[in-house]
Amino acid sequence: MFQNSLEYAKKQDADDTLAAFRNKFHIPKDASGKELIYLCGNSLGLQPKITSEYIKEELADWANLGVEGHVEGKHPWLPYHEFLTENMAKIVGAKPSEVVVMNTLTTNLHLMMVSFYQPTKTKYKIVVESDAFPSDKYAVESQLKFHGIDPKDGLILWKPRKGEELCRFEDLEEIMQTHGNEIALLMIGSTNYYTGQSFPLKKITELGHKYDCMVGFDLAHGAGNIQPNLHETGADFAVWCTYKYLNSGPGSLGGCFVHERHANNETLNRFAGWWGHNKKTRFNMRHEFDALPGAEGWQLSNPPILSMAAIRASLDTFAEAGFENLRKKSEKLTGYLEFLLDEMKNDAINVITPRNPKERGCQLSIQVKNADKSLHTKLTEAGVISDWREPDVIRVAPAPLYNSFEDVFHFSEKLKKVLK
Ligand SMILES: *Cc1c(COP(=O)(O)O)cnc(C)c1O
Repeated sequence: MFQNSLEYAKKQDADDTLAAFRNKFHIPKDASGKELIYLCGNSLGLQPKITSEYIKEELADWANLGVEGHVEGKHPWLPYHEFLTENMAKIVGAKPSEVVVMNTLTTNLHLMMVSFYQPTKTKYKIVVESDAFPSDKYAVESQLKFHGIDPKDGLILWKPRKGEELCRFEDLEEIMQTHGNEIALLMIGSTNYYTGQSFPLKKITELGHKYDCMVGFDLAHGAGNIQPNLHETGADFAVWCTYKYLNSGPGSLGGCFVHERHANNETLNRFAGWWGHNKKTRFNMRHEFDALPGAEGWQLSNPPILSMAAIRASLDTFAEAGFENLRKKSEKLTGYLEFLLDEMKNDAINVITPRNPKERGCQLSIQVKNADKSLHTKLTEAGVISDWREPDVIRVAPAPLYNSFEDVFHFSEKLKKVLK
């Protein structure tokens, strides 16, 4: 159904009801002022043009009101995180009470493990996918050590089979059949940052729960990309960041999901701070810690409002586009990229990301035989911003909010040239 021509790509953009959203973003340019082909939203999403307005509003309230901005601001700072909750909950398919924006991803992952990884003498192991993002692996290993467990004993890797790149669900089932009674937690990153593989979150959760394990997901590459339907999956917790597909600026805050079944669970360990305390008595200062129900109860500190303003700008943009519309466009846009790569009929390139759109987000990971980083350098010189992962993978992620079919077409032409 797709065609390999610039004319066709332009026609798709002309027919795209979301095409106007590109103009709501700052697109990076080269030295001559020509727009770059930006396919790196999996690493740092682009800046919405409205973001600076949102931040300026907070700067103005701070300038004009000082401390009174906490209650008198146009968007008062005391409940500011609440202005993000509803839109964020929609993006990850959760109930508002299950979602909070706070801290950063790795911090949230630790906080969640404090609560949901409570090992016993016999049930103490953690399963992660073998190519987990380094920060997740460090976090999990350090949690094991914190409980006096040697990661060599306590960490189980869910690995692709020899000669394969993707993890198979059957192999996770086998791990659970063999070690289920020793496993306390499944902590899986979905969508996988390297291969782009999205795992069946609900099936994984049901499998974990069948063996009485806690189940958590890292959605750094999922949030704003796929629809994880977190509530429906039944997962115990999830964490994500907002600077990748959620376009909220470098190092911006993370999101956190705690399933409603844990909303009032007082038996869980928790590292507490005043922002997780009952809002009515927070400022009395002399009360025993009284956790807010739901995900909000895991907050620690009063949050950085300037960062949250950027998140609010981005979430408003997502809400305007509609996440379902974005996902529909995304499947088509990435499908087009896949088609153009297939059309190259070049044995040196191999897309390791799953072929089934249900098992991936917008990213394709392209393995290039015998390539090294110079290939990526050449692409960059040709005006493509993509991402290189050793030993031999280029990751490209056409983001449906600001990438066009024309971007994808030009990328494939440039890749063809560079590979010659
Ligand atoms: C991007 C990413 C992180 C980064 O963590 P921060 O705490 O935000 O620096 C962690 N895990 C995964 C899977 C990621 O993709």
